[in-house]
Amino acid sequence: MIRRNKTKEIRIGNRVIGGTNPILVQSMTNTYTGNIGKTMRQIRKLIRADCEIVRVAVPDIESCKAIALFKKKVHIPIIADIHFDYRLAVRAIEEGADKIRINPGNIGKKANIKKIVVKAKNAGIPLRIGVNAGSLEKELCRKYGGPVPDALVESTLRNVEIVESFGFHDIVISIKSSSVLDTIDATIKVARVMDYPIHLGITESGPIASGTIKSAAGISVLLHRGIGDTIRVSLTGDPVSEVVVGYGILQSLNLRVHGPDIISCPTCGRMEVDIAPIVKKVEQRTSNLCENIKIAIMGCIVNGPGEARIADIGIACGKGAAILFKKGKIVKKVSEKEMLKTFLDEIDTLVEKSPRKQRKDNKKSRK
Ligand code: SF4
Repeated sequence: MIRRNKTKEIRIGNRVIGGTNPILVQSMTNTYTGNIGKTMRQIRKLIRADCEIVRVAVPDIESCKAIALFKKKVHIPIIADIHFDYRLAVRAIEEGADKIRINPGNIGKKANIKKIVVKAKNAGIPLRIGVNAGSLEKELCRKYGGPVPDALVESTLRNVEIVESFGFHDIVISIKSSSVLDTIDATIKVARVMDYPIHLGITESGPIASGTIKSAAGISVLLHRGIGDTIRVSLTGDPVSEVVVGYGILQSLNLRVHGPDIISCPTCGRMEVDIAPIVKKVEQRTSNLCENIKIAIMGCIVNGPGEARIADIGIACGKGAAILFKKGKIVKKVSEKEMLKTFLDEIDTLVEKSPRKQRKDNKKSRK
């Protein structure tokens, strides 16, 4: 059981992070934000994948203006990601952004930060102070010999202090590096001394396979220590993958429920039935379920009966047939030919009977 750190509650549009609120999964569009049609389509795709907060890059005024249009059409909070130019942050707030992410390493003078803070305060929206190893203040890099964890920590504390000095406490923090260990070290140090909610992520973690591994490694270590109130998995490619991986990490640690947990063996030379196509079909058939049911699909009698018995529903294959288990009990023996259909029907029956029966498409239509 993970005991989460007690952080301050911060409202972002219609969602709240921190405190005992669920750890929210967020992502970022990778289209040019000023291209409203393309970005809107990507935001809708992310929403269909259950993305709970979306961030858009704001490199110019056209992107600021687009925020007002997105706000009219989508229900999830829109965050404006600002670098270099404080005026874009001010304008994004005027256009209705639900939160501003600033990178203090490149926003410039204190007076410019103050202008953003005053605007955010008047609009009643939070700021994320997003420190990133790739854009750390130059003098801190010189002082520490590079963007090492202590440099990231000093940058975070210093910039939080600047924002607080303007009487602003509606703050979310993130400390990111492409180094998993540096991100972990720096985030732990900051979490020890501050109670602002923390946005977790490993920045520029790479393409889908290696990025998923790095993100899962770094984010999970922090979550296990009770740190983290929202996560963004950074992957090169379709941002929908970021959401899928984000929920996967949270569900693996029992921090969120987001669909079935499929337990299938890696298969080996003892396999009696080729389970790969069965696993694929079951995955497709159950992908729109919100139920956290454990489904086991096992290739032989070595670990098969054991895993299938402790799952909500499972099959353990033998020669040309399989034993079907439900809630720990043997239900029937099915031939290899009937196996897939029977198993899918039994999964449907189990879900139908569940008091928490809910499908993701239904859930979305109620939003
Ligand atoms: S359950 Fe059987 S087939 Fe699957 S990996 Fe284990 S020994 Fe191999």
